[in-house]
Amino acid sequence: MLHLIRAACLLLLLTLISSALSEIVRYDGHKVISVHAGTPEQVKWLGKLHDTSLLDFWTHPSLIRPTDIRVGPKDYGDLMKQLRQQGFNVTVVHEDVQKLIESVGQHPHSKDKRAVKLSSETVIGGFPRYANIYAWAVDKQKSNSGIMQILTAGKTYQGRDQYVIKLGNNGLNKPAIWLDGGIHAREWIAVAAALNIIDKLVTGYNAQDQTIINLLTNFDWYIMPVANPDGYEYSHTSGNRLWRKTLTPHKYGAVGADPNRNWGYQWCITGASHVTTSNQFCGSHPWSEKCVDNMRGALDSIKTRLKVYMTLHSYGQMWFVPYAWSRIAYPQDYQTLVMTGRSAVSAIQRATGAVYSVGRVPDLLYEASGSSMDWVKGYLGTPYVFGMELRPTQNIPNGFITTTDSIAPATEDVWQGLKVVAQRAQMDLRKPSVIG
Ligand SMILES: [Zn+2]
Repeated sequence: MLHLIRAACLLLLLTLISSALSEIVRYDGHKVISVHAGTPEQVKWLGKLHDTSLLDFWTHPSLIRPTDIRVGPKDYGDLMKQLRQQGFNVTVVHEDVQKLIESVGQHPHSKDKRAVKLSSETVIGGFPRYANIYAWAVDKQKSNSGIMQILTAGKTYQGRDQYVIKLGNNGLNKPAIWLDGGIHAREWIAVAAALNIIDKLVTGYNAQDQTIINLLTNFDWYIMPVANPDGYEYSHTSGNRLWRKTLTPHKYGAVGADPNRNWGYQWCITGASHVTTSNQFCGSHPWSEKCVDNMRGALDSIKTRLKVYMTLHSYGQMWFVPYAWSRIAYPQDYQTLVMTGRSAVSAIQRATGAVYSVGRVPDLLYEASGSSMDWVKGYLGTPYVFGMELRPTQNIPNGFITTTDSIAPATEDVWQGLKVVAQRAQMDLRKPSVIG
């Protein structure tokens, strides 16, 4: 369920986190390698490694793209030996991940200057802290109360409100568009892009941009810029720039589950792990992660109106259509989704020059089950369901360590894609219902 936030200021209750989380994690000497698979058997082998090892896969195994893996100095020799034995072509794309993180000033630190200055400044165009995002949203809402509301989908495990920004002018119960970013904590560009879309809609409405007025007249927009607030904050301040999961404690002292493997549709069948310490840990049961369960409630409460669901991730420049969980599973309207996706990526390429590939996750990468996209399509039956892997491409090896200059172009990619999808959804609403 979605609740309106009324308090002007919100105290964030930070629970004491376990000792496992009290140190700031460094990546000295960690490399990122690109593994090129040449055969389906090799992809299968990589998929097994992905599901069973504790290695940090930056990208999912794939036949048509290299698979990027971060590996620490202790495991490097052994992994390289195994990969060579399996006949893989491997290139080292980063010699030292710590240096990469520090080179762009993103090493988490409790004395981080950004932690002190809690204001609504630098939210647009930066990688803001969670409290700054809220302060910014409150400021924005005050001067745009006719079209903007701040809602909460519930509290996270650490007690943070999981905000949803609702945008739309007059009209009750209009068709709805949902956009979320940052379900994976380290994918900061996805959070930044979602925030910049909110800003674009509000600014455009005030500037009387007719396209934006139409989009806010025809639809209610629900934008959750930070879908995993605990993990996002942890990646900024107290812990680990490369944190992907939630922060819920699990068995054997493990912390966090993969919030995009925890959804209750074909849960934990493929491309996910029951090993609690794995980066792809699917949780102790479906919906075990509070932030995921909150999202379920919010989406369920608008399901009859929901026409578009879009979830933002990084990286690799891909436009996903359902389903992700199986190579042989297609939604009934698969052709429509692919055609819409192709139109969207053409619009993106025309506007920004960025090239996005379109397909199901298993077509472009390798199967992955328990994702938000599959649940929204398979359970809610929402018509237009997509996921985007934003910039950079895999040719630019920064991966998750994106810089602020990529925010504007990534936002433009999302914007161009969303406009196409919203237009399609709008055309469907005008069609007469088929009788019989
Ligand atoms: Zn992701």
